[in-house]
Amino acid sequence: MVDRPRIRRFDIRAYLDERGVGYEEAGAPNVGDGYIGVNCPFCDDHRNHLGIHLETKRWKCWRCATSGDLFDLMRYFEPRISVDEYRERLRGRGSEGELSFLERVQEVMDPSPVARRISPSRKSRVPLPREFAYIDELSEPRFAHDPARLIGLRYLENRGFDMVTAVDFELGVCAIGPYMGRLIVPVQDEKGQQVGFVARDMSGKARVKYLVPPGFERTDYLYSIHRVVAGAELVLVEGVTDVWCTGDCAVATLSSALSPVQLRQIVSRRPLQVTIMWDGDAIAKAFRTAERIRPFVPRTRVVPLPFGADPASLGKGRVNQLLNGEGAHPQKI
Ligand SMILES: [Zn+2]
Repeated sequence: MVDRPRIRRFDIRAYLDERGVGYEEAGAPNVGDGYIGVNCPFCDDHRNHLGIHLETKRWKCWRCATSGDLFDLMRYFEPRISVDEYRERLRGRGSEGELSFLERVQEVMDPSPVARRISPSRKSRVPLPREFAYIDELSEPRFAHDPARLIGLRYLENRGFDMVTAVDFELGVCAIGPYMGRLIVPVQDEKGQQVGFVARDMSGKARVKYLVPPGFERTDYLYSIHRVVAGAELVLVEGVTDVWCTGDCAVATLSSALSPVQLRQIVSRRPLQVTIMWDGDAIAKAFRTAERIRPFVPRTRVVPLPFGADPASLGKGRVNQLLNGEGAHPQKI
């Protein structure tokens, strides 16, 4: 259980951000040096009494005295997490480049313990929020002036998408509730069944851009994999909007890392070519990831994007040019 260097390296802020959990830094009321403070979920606390030590990741509530380690904390957010998965998680942050060739092959060929947890019976499925409403229902007269749906559509239009995208990707909004003001993007598994969602802030003001509902393990899925034609080219992008402007050949990791489960899903589609088109500031990661994919795919390449750019910010036309090798030189591995 003890893996101190990896626990130290573990990015607890990112972990909490991904789950939409607010925290305060040292110096804020009740938060000591070397800690971040969150509202304790074990008592009725609203003043960040639960301190998480940034190095050891041990935590304790100064109000109700509940305490534990990083694994206990993860078990609170992800009740199904096993010790193996916990270790995998520690391994996954910051150390993917250290895998040997043999380890990389084993990761796919003998994917235990990771693969064991994704047998369909054990897969978590998080339904869409109760308040969810499809944007495309604006075409129905009784919804034609629904403000929440209209805001969703305007948001898409401002980013170069339209109703076709909303229909294609079954996008929606919530007029009330914890996901109000966010674009709800349903996530499907390889068979096209909805398994979870991500909620994108539309105001540009939220501290956390993407919210992931509790219990949805997004690294178990590749967004839009069910639309990819087997035996063709597959383009790996980071975010959902990147998929919308790249086309049906694209899948998104929903982060700038490729989990072993996601790698297996790519391999199972037997693509002729995998192109990695991650954000401009993730070039090194993209090349390392290409190395992991290379043993299983005839052709692998990285299409570097300008620093600070992602496919969605470049737009459909430019993305197509880059994929076709116009105006830039895709780098063969
Ligand atoms: Zn407490």
